[in-house]
Amino acid sequence: MQKRFVYADNAATSPLSKEAFDAMKPWLTEKWGNPSSIYSAARDARKAVEMARADIADSIGAKPEEIYFTSGGTEADNWAIKSSAKAFGKKGRHLITSAIEHHAVSSSMESLTSEGFEITVLPVDKYGMVSPADLEKAIRPDTIFISIMLANNEIGTIQPIEELAEIAKKHNIPFHTDAVQAVGHIPVNVDELKVDMLSMSSHKFGGPQGVGALYIRKGVRIPPLMHGGGHERGRRSGTENVAGVCGMAAALKHAVEIMPEANAHLKHISDRLFDKLLQIPYTQATGHPEKRLPGTVSVVFNYIEGESIILLLDSKGISASSGSACTSGSLDPSHVLLAIGLPHEVAHGSVRLSLGKDITEEDADYIAESLTEVVDRLRTMSPLWKG
Ligand SMILES: *Cc1c(COP(=O)(O)O)cnc(C)c1O
Repeated sequence: MQKRFVYADNAATSPLSKEAFDAMKPWLTEKWGNPSSIYSAARDARKAVEMARADIADSIGAKPEEIYFTSGGTEADNWAIKSSAKAFGKKGRHLITSAIEHHAVSSSMESLTSEGFEITVLPVDKYGMVSPADLEKAIRPDTIFISIMLANNEIGTIQPIEELAEIAKKHNIPFHTDAVQAVGHIPVNVDELKVDMLSMSSHKFGGPQGVGALYIRKGVRIPPLMHGGGHERGRRSGTENVAGVCGMAAALKHAVEIMPEANAHLKHISDRLFDKLLQIPYTQATGHPEKRLPGTVSVVFNYIEGESIILLLDSKGISASSGSACTSGSLDPSHVLLAIGLPHEVAHGSVRLSLGKDITEEDADYIAESLTEVVDRLRTMSPLWKG
């Protein structure tokens, strides 16, 4: 097959949608204004921010006043976790999370241990699923906060958040979910999920980078992470990213509109890709076979290194990742792959293809053909491979 360019790393960041760009453009060119000022140009900016907030709230079944704009998913996770510890720390010092969280959650949790908090990290099964029974067992009288992600960024597994959050609710413990990989990709409704806090990030669904939001259910009181001029109703200071939030809202609205069609297509392409990739010997799929993001194709190839695979794929015009982008460059295999029980040497051979809605069958076949060739080539060079 002829060389072609295929971007298959949408879970790391997604291309800006046309809808997002069109919504941002006026605020980067002929319009400006600090939404906190009182002249008419500024009032337009305020109006735009509030419309974006209402649209975003609407797409996850929240009220506009429950949406707080942040600088992205990382800030939203940090805020939810650190401020909950601060707010509820007098009631208890125990928090619960899972073994497959993004570093924005796991490192925030870890940072609390130096302040005398104790963290229970729930295990997952071989598909990356947290068991509701394990959560129930881990809850103690001094548990003050639970954070479990909705959809995993490396293997695509979707957690039974409704069930998990229901358990938290029964014990009166605030429940946060990192929904960065889910919002804009699968239906998300905060009431159905029964969550108290939810993080999202614009650049994972076709919006610009550097903007995100934390949903905080009405009545849940956590202090600000950022102090300053009292923006976002006193809970998150800093001049609003007007263009950013407009782009985020437009991207999300569009993603939700096209979701049924896009997901049917992604499922079809993923199935086709899995079928072809699993024909390569000593290869296994990672993540849950059904409860998974439709665009995530995650596999491990025995006897070779994920990083080498990624570099050779790049020379063929394909952008993909091994483990998560944040851990690339380190020699430790992904904590997610270790948590699902893969031995170190197998976890090292991981590849994640996160597909975008515009991917074609030809793209998928090109990926499969290229990977087959790359894996074969690396194995013949591998000291671990005996043929
Ligand atoms: C990308 C990602 C984040 C971080 O979001 P940023 O907006 O890049 O800070 C957090 N959690 C998950 C699951 C992610 O995939």
